Amino acid sequence: MDDDADDIFASAAMVAPAPKDAFPSIERPAREVYQKVRDELLLDGVARMNLATFCTTWLEPEAAQLMADSVAKNIIDKDEYPQTAEIERRCVALVADLFHAPDPAHATGVSTTGSSEAAMLSGLAAKWRWRARRAAVGADTTRPNLVCGSVQVCWEKFARYFDVELRQVPMPGGHLLTPEDALAHCDENTIAVVATFGQTFTGLFEDVAGIAAALDDLQARTGLDIPLHVDAASGGFVAPFCAPDVLWDFRLPRVKSINASGHKTGLAPLGAGWAIWRETGDLPQELIFDVNYLGGNMPTFTLNFSRPGGQVITSYYLFLRLGRAGYAKVQSAAYTVAQRIAAGIRDLDRFELVFDGEPEHGIPAVTWTSKDGDDSVLFDLAQQLRMRGWLVPAYTLPPAQESRAVQRVVVRHGMSVDMADLLLADIRRCLDDLSALPDGVHLAAAGASGFNHDATPRVADA
Ligand SMILES: *Cc1c(COP(=O)(O)O)cnc(C)c1O
Repeated sequence: MDDDADDIFASAAMVAPAPKDAFPSIERPAREVYQKVRDELLLDGVARMNLATFCTTWLEPEAAQLMADSVAKNIIDKDEYPQTAEIERRCVALVADLFHAPDPAHATGVSTTGSSEAAMLSGLAAKWRWRARRAAVGADTTRPNLVCGSVQVCWEKFARYFDVELRQVPMPGGHLLTPEDALAHCDENTIAVVATFGQTFTGLFEDVAGIAAALDDLQARTGLDIPLHVDAASGGFVAPFCAPDVLWDFRLPRVKSINASGHKTGLAPLGAGWAIWRETGDLPQELIFDVNYLGGNMPTFTLNFSRPGGQVITSYYLFLRLGRAGYAKVQSAAYTVAQRIAAGIRDLDRFELVFDGEPEHGIPAVTWTSKDGDDSVLFDLAQQLRMRGWLVPAYTLPPAQESRAVQRVVVRHGMSVDMADLLLADIRRCLDDLSALPDGVHLAAAGASGFNHDATPRVADA
């Protein structure tokens, strides 16, 4: 019999193994089960030492408190929680303003669970617009395609789930989609070109303005009017503050929709994303459901129905709390740390920097490759750093590029200069340990650093 006086590790729940495959038959005391579950999670990596992820791993206590306060709020119940609905509306307006939408007060956009859902919705809107345009002139509507470079896996999902041909431009020797290559893959069945603003593999910004200009030129020459969507999952909440002169958003008339992850550089807790359209007409009405629900009429355009409201509420808190000045400070600090890591990597004289964390060129991140073409050192280093608790992924670039591997550190809110120095010291130590290995002995199988979210080793999406 369990007794409150029991030492927790002598309690019945702790001296028996947890059920793992069959639904448990008996009830257990909360404090024992809490301890059991919490202890198991000790084996997960330390989130703040996970330098693979783009996602928020540190929250202010007030933000965490708002998340806890909102735990029972369902964002879909707009009639019951009208202020949560109003806060979502304000957030859409604020983000649209940040991205220079022409009329932010009447912005068209939605909160989502992240950029993936936002990408699906933006892709669907582009497909519907394309189909309506084609149908209006009696043209074929059966073979839509989407043109992009090395995109995050969400676009491969969009294409497969919603039956669109993905025209992924092969980019030998380079890492970024060029305007010329994008254009060469477009035709009358192209629903949109996707430019990635903060490329997953390297952290670099693609040349959105250049791609927009090429599409403008295409229209002038041929009449073909192909919209541009910007996947600003990671760049959307850094460039407006730290590289305001880089043109990537609705300042470019060609840009019809943008997705951004609130839970990446937006600093919001996990589960926050935004899809924003340039103007009301860019989101086809047929995609919006007016659900008559619990006494209210509610327009919805999301893939989910019930969803926690805390992420939107906490996003609003962060926008008010930090403002442009605060975001600029937080993100500049991240760039400073990234550049310090880049300098440390350069000093090792073993690696070649692919991206050194300059705000005009990408997100706060550092990416490098091996200098002598021997990629195994990257995978070995990733493995060795893991023993110290650092998760610094090495991964091969998409097959359409060189068969090269890169290693990447994403610097986020919560990574200090001291942590960067500790990381660099560990990198030096690990490289020394590795050079003591006999020739030809490797710790890791090349191509498998163990940090990927799915089974295909090339997807370093975090
Ligand atoms: C992270 C990322 C995504 C997916 O975003 P989630 O918010 O994780 O769903 C899409 N595109 C790019 C470029 C990303 O970096």
